[in-house]
Amino acid sequence: MFQVDLVDVQSDDAIFEGNGWDAVIVVASDLDVIAQDEIKLLANHAKQIDQRIGKTATLLLAPGLAGGRLIVSPVLNAQNEYSDVTVFAKAAREGIAIAKAAGAVKPLLVVSQHSDTRYQYAQQVSALACGQELWQSLEYREAEQTLPAMTAIGLLVTQSCSELLNAVEAGKVLARDLCGTEPERMAAPAFADYCVDAFNGSGLSVSVVDEQEELERDYPLLCAVGRASFCVPRHQPRVVKVEYVGEGEIEKTFLFAGKGVIYDTGGADIKVAGGMAGMSRDKGGAAAVAGLMKTLSLLKPKGIRVIAELGLVRNSIGSDAFVPDEIINSHAGVRVRIGNTDAEGRLVLADLLSHLRIKATSAVNPQLFSVATLTGHVVRCYGGYTAVVENAVSKAQGIGAGIADVAELWGESVELSRLRHDDFAKVNNISGQGELLSSNNGPSAITARGHQYPAAFLINASGLGDHGSHSAAPLPFAHIDIAGSATEGHPLYGKPTASPLVTLLHNAIK
Ligand SMILES: [Zn+2]
Repeated sequence: MFQVDLVDVQSDDAIFEGNGWDAVIVVASDLDVIAQDEIKLLANHAKQIDQRIGKTATLLLAPGLAGGRLIVSPVLNAQNEYSDVTVFAKAAREGIAIAKAAGAVKPLLVVSQHSDTRYQYAQQVSALACGQELWQSLEYREAEQTLPAMTAIGLLVTQSCSELLNAVEAGKVLARDLCGTEPERMAAPAFADYCVDAFNGSGLSVSVVDEQEELERDYPLLCAVGRASFCVPRHQPRVVKVEYVGEGEIEKTFLFAGKGVIYDTGGADIKVAGGMAGMSRDKGGAAAVAGLMKTLSLLKPKGIRVIAELGLVRNSIGSDAFVPDEIINSHAGVRVRIGNTDAEGRLVLADLLSHLRIKATSAVNPQLFSVATLTGHVVRCYGGYTAVVENAVSKAQGIGAGIADVAELWGESVELSRLRHDDFAKVNNISGQGELLSSNNGPSAITARGHQYPAAFLINASGLGDHGSHSAAPLPFAHIDIAGSATEGHPLYGKPTASPLVTLLHNAIK
């Protein structure tokens, strides 16, 4: 596992030379809020000859401090009323990047407390941001036989948090590896094997559906997407089922469907004009859910049960590819008319959700989720933020609003979108022959309500439409579109983020 160990440090003495650390990185919104007098004094002295101190991340020669290195990384715009905790994450990343470049391998991270409640998890978010900054791709690690650039990062904290953070970071490393790796190394069977290995000995129950007959019977929409991939054994679809059962009486059940489109060519509605590159990252939903299960297996929270189904499939093109106008019966028995083969993620999710729906009806306090890099529309609409689109049952229970609150505090901000009656009108019985239409035939980015209405399709194609507020067995369901947040920076080469792993974890354990 490519992971930097995060270590709790309780005493301020750790900032001095000889206590095991080789650099001090201080992340602070103002030099005067730094609690350690020696650091504050050094930074203020340095500022007299270098006006960059406190404005940009800077390395200072600091005799007597750990490694003789002090990196002052200012948090900019913390006072701005529109800022969120990611201003701390940004500063921490700049600081750890300088520490790495300077040759430090065991830095101590000192995050100055801020009284604003928006920043109550600033220390934890900063520590996780260092993990994000230091992560390198699986291909790179395998080619270079490389280890993490740092052996450990010390966290000067008042309350121990390393157990939580190391469990989260282990999940995030797994999620980034699964999402970011190229489509042959992480083809569907390889993705499934990688999960099985990662969960080995974790206490999670894991099974993989790999027989074509069983896949076609139980996941007919998923298999339509993967139909042209069956002729290439190494590309064949898989469904990975994972379950976590906490100790004690189960009080809540969380059920996740993860979209793992290994590669999205668009299918017969092929992506043209350079629109295909980067489509190896269309597995970010399944990756984030797999990472969440890893984190849960390490943290072992009591009283919850978590069930995940990951749909791993390559949207290949070939003579056996599915085409628009086909009508396919979903696992829930709904006749689905294919509108566009590039709207494949919702087909994968609908069958997974149908299986989860059946489990949810006998589960204690269930909450259902789909997690997917689903639409270009969400990126057009919200940029790099995650969208949550929930059904009426979920809305009445305040699940989406609770997720948005948690997400904000942990630097994975969420926009809450509202599902409306006209979203259902876009998919219900368009031909007058009673089928459900999977999508319109145009890019979602130029389709009005292009990220909201797929939730209407998911509800009806999966059978969740029979579990609305006025039904005998209402089931809360929230669809989470991470097309804008699953990766950061360059759309083709930027790092996977593992988002919204941290949010989903805290929604489950709060
Ligand atoms: Zn697609």
